Amino acid sequence: MPPDKICKTVHQYNKEPVPDEDMQKLLDIAEDYRKVKNYVYVRFGGIGSLSKIYPGYTVQNEMTASGYRESLGLPAVYFYLAVFDALGDIKSQWTKTKAKIVKQVNKNEGFTEKEKHYLHFLLKVNNAFEAVLNQKPIELTAQIQKQYLELTKQVDTDRLHRYLCRQTRKNYVKLHTDKADVFSIAERAYRYADHGIYVSIKEKRKRVFIPLTDNNQYKCQLRMKLYPKENRVEIKVPVNVSVRSNADYLSQVGIAMGLYTMVTTDEGHRYGEELGRYQLEYSDWIRAQTSSYRRNKKDNPGRKKYHAKKRRLEERLHSYINQELNRFLAVEKPKTVYIVKLPKPQAGGHNKKINYTVNQWQRGYIRKRLTQKCKEQSVKIVEVLGKDISNECSECGAIGTKVEGMFRCVVCGYEIEEKLNTARNVKKRGQGDGS
Ligand SMILES: [Zn+2]
Repeated sequence: MPPDKICKTVHQYNKEPVPDEDMQKLLDIAEDYRKVKNYVYVRFGGIGSLSKIYPGYTVQNEMTASGYRESLGLPAVYFYLAVFDALGDIKSQWTKTKAKIVKQVNKNEGFTEKEKHYLHFLLKVNNAFEAVLNQKPIELTAQIQKQYLELTKQVDTDRLHRYLCRQTRKNYVKLHTDKADVFSIAERAYRYADHGIYVSIKEKRKRVFIPLTDNNQYKCQLRMKLYPKENRVEIKVPVNVSVRSNADYLSQVGIAMGLYTMVTTDEGHRYGEELGRYQLEYSDWIRAQTSSYRRNKKDNPGRKKYHAKKRRLEERLHSYINQELNRFLAVEKPKTVYIVKLPKPQAGGHNKKINYTVNQWQRGYIRKRLTQKCKEQSVKIVEVLGKDISNECSECGAIGTKVEGMFRCVVCGYEIEEKLNTARNVKKRGQGDGS
């Protein structure tokens, strides 16, 4: 059963440019917010604090006792959100670290199955992990303790503990942030009125007023992102929206995504045929601007204009993408959409062969939007493996050739537009999986 509510991020924007002095007051909060986060990273980011970060009350209490809030003069409504933001980052940093170590353990051929099993146990049980890293005795609940003792009998625990400590040192990244342009706002720190929003600032009982482009009012924790160079702000609001369920959405659609035509279906319907033109215009303009910026680096009063134009082009591109995705769903009325699974990013950092152009980034945006829109309409997305999917003949399954956007099968002689061939294969693979 699909859930009846899903989370969606809504954006709000300032109607008029935010005056420099108001922007400065918001930047002051963002700067303090950054300082608090870095303080929490340093003080609670290490192995010695592992026992304090779940569930986090200790951190909260210690931060209150530290007197740091008073020394900054940051209102409590911002201070504690910064603390919990940082705490969330620390937790996810530990999660990532453990996941990396699990991978290395699995790959390591020097370990026996029993040794791997023991290491997995340590990585899974919070208390055990923390105790090993801090060289403390491992104390567990009676039930797990028994399981633990069984495991220790079969392995050299000292050696494995040293391994775990070493891998943690290698993989755990100390957190730090230089970003001072974003902060969260608790409900108590803002008020919607007069076609805008009043935001608490560091000065007692003072507010900054920002007129907004819409009259929507929300009651939840907001996120304020500042763009001081452009005198603008963006407010991100997490809202729960009802999922729509459409009784007439019954079709099964395989799609191929492209840079020139955004979506081609297995029946040859196309959506976003202007995508290539829009993207080209955008990336050409960026390239031209970048080189002229390099030439006149010192004397550049036109930066604000640059940012404004860049944003306009980006917004136009995005609204085109969204509009065409809406049209895709409205016309096709799919129950299930089959789509190629994206390849996993290469292990060990970036693949240098891939050029991270504007195009590549839009592909991520399109997928994200399609996924969200499908969720909102209770349309199921099924990902299929992409290996050879554009090289296979959708009639007979043999490997064919692709020339100038056309696919030709040397075995059965089938000729078809390349993207259409891919979309047909996507649907076949999706349905073949029995999904
Ligand atoms: Zn064929």
